[in-house]
Amino acid sequence: MGHTTGGTARTHERAHTELQPPPAQPGGWYDASREALQTIADGVTQLAGFGVAAISVVRDDGKLEVMAVAGSDEARTQLAGTRTPVARLEREIEKADEWGLLRFVPHERLDESAGDTWGWVPDITPLAHEDAWHPLDLLIAPLYDERGRLRGTLAMDLPEDGRRPGLGQRQLLQRYAEQAGRAVITALEREDLAHRVRLAEAAREVVRHASAQLRIDGILGDIRDALMAGFQARGLWIQTLDEDGQGTGAVYAADGGEVALTGELTRIAEAAARRAWDGQWVEIVQRGRPFGPSISTEEGERILAFLDGIGVDSLLFAPLGAGPECLGNLVLTRAHGDPEWSSVESDAALDIGRDLGRVILNARTFEREHQLVEELQALDTYKSQLIATVSHELKNPLTAIMGHLEMLDASPDLTGTTRSSLAAMERGTTRMVRVVEDLLLLSKVGDPNNPVIPAPVDLRRIIDEVVDLTSVAASRKGITLLVDAPREQVCTVGDREELDRVVANLVSNAVKYTPDHGHVTVRLATCGDEILLTCTDDGLGISAEDQDHLFAEFFRSTNPEAHAQPGTGLGLAIVLRIVQRHGGRIEVESELGRGSTFRVLLPAAPG
Ligand code: ADP
Repeated sequence: MGHTTGGTARTHERAHTELQPPPAQPGGWYDASREALQTIADGVTQLAGFGVAAISVVRDDGKLEVMAVAGSDEARTQLAGTRTPVARLEREIEKADEWGLLRFVPHERLDESAGDTWGWVPDITPLAHEDAWHPLDLLIAPLYDERGRLRGTLAMDLPEDGRRPGLGQRQLLQRYAEQAGRAVITALEREDLAHRVRLAEAAREVVRHASAQLRIDGILGDIRDALMAGFQARGLWIQTLDEDGQGTGAVYAADGGEVALTGELTRIAEAAARRAWDGQWVEIVQRGRPFGPSISTEEGERILAFLDGIGVDSLLFAPLGAGPECLGNLVLTRAHGDPEWSSVESDAALDIGRDLGRVILNARTFEREHQLVEELQALDTYKSQLIATVSHELKNPLTAIMGHLEMLDASPDLTGTTRSSLAAMERGTTRMVRVVEDLLLLSKVGDPNNPVIPAPVDLRRIIDEVVDLTSVAASRKGITLLVDAPREQVCTVGDREELDRVVANLVSNAVKYTPDHGHVTVRLATCGDEILLTCTDDGLGISAEDQDHLFAEFFRSTNPEAHAQPGTGLGLAIVLRIVQRHGGRIEVESELGRGSTFRVLLPAAPG
């Protein structure tokens, strides 16, 4: 009588006794597919009169894996999950008799060594009939799809009557083989589909994080779980190559920690990644499997030795890159007994390598820009500190000079020349004092460590006061100064003194840069939750080129008429900073020779 249930089961390769099917939800595709196969195997044992039946499917690695076994407990435990190379089965069925879909190889045609190398042989003495079943007889139905590819087998053994099957029994088995063929194809398609769905989810996660996260370590942290689940991997690490294309970047392990790879291994991985990216292929490294084109035998052996040391059975290695540039590699690992890497997974890993490559490239660009901004900020802070220090140092001596000049000025016995020299010194000093004061204010309002202390501020009142003060200068030039504002308070929140400075600078500029007999109007209005303050004049106006630099420190107009007026070039820089730190914005509209309008928008105080 038969030795086992055929090609799939006759092997002694017991390496996969702990075979873990992909974790499936109860009742999911995996259970459903197995159940269908099991029912067919059960039918063969219960209705076709065989002691054991097994259905196997062909895996990507060219092995037949037993998916369903019916029969004794012994047969079940021996056979479930075993794997046999397809080539071995093919060799055997070359010698077979063709019984429709069934193939029968009588024991006498088997290789001499078959008895030793092939697996489980029940201890049964064959009957003495001419058609008696022998323990080494093989009866199997190879299951092909419509394209003629072998997808699985239905094998049976231990006929209950102890005989090789007759015509009637063969016909019944033929029907089971047809059913098994359909069921195996369905099971494989379902498995494939479920795989694709899972992997597509993993890929989506990678792409999603491309926009959400910009730091490489953050991205890797975010996608790790999705990749591990999608690929049903035990471990994962990602190696990013340095930007100079020389050294190697960090290697992250599944638990987020960095994996200590030997320098030699990182070099092997880096070189393999470059070759794999050029060729657009992935590598599977596993003992007993030939190495792919990116890895030499020597390199492969070193990797295998390393994998043995960390308890990893196999790895899937995919290059990461963008355009012609290889940016790193992605490694997914599986333990002993896990499913083999499928071609669907290999393809998905390659796609994810491309997605991740783009993500890494984006993150790098971001990190570079971020660094640049930080450097610029540091430079800006340094500049502000320098200005603040120098201004402070100048302020006291200037005050002393001013005091002495005033004292001298009061002296009765000065000559006319001395007096005019003193007057010139006073003018110069006054100008210096103004610059120093503006610089001090500029550094104060630009200092992030000196935030605005918010309080309600009535802009209407500020305008009244400023207009009051400026009216002297305006009337000296015959300029009409008008205010158009509501009677009631118009409140924003902020620092009163600073906001006063905004209005004062704008109104005094308008008067300063408007020729005699011009007009200046200050308007105030509330628009929704914003306050609009406008200062309009029909003065010199500002050219489009000058408008681009108007708010820069020390900028003074290129227009000679405007330049002739005294000024530090700091007024509008101060205005801009104050407006910004109050959550507002400023716009200018102007035309040379026609006048200017400055618009300030500030948030209105709540309520
Ligand atoms: P300052 O008035 O001290 O020179 P500002 O920063 O206040 O410095 O102004 C910068 C420049 O912008 C001025 O030199 C002037 O040329 C131009 N400017 C500002 N306000 C007006 C305005 N209302 N009309 C014409 N030009 C103006």
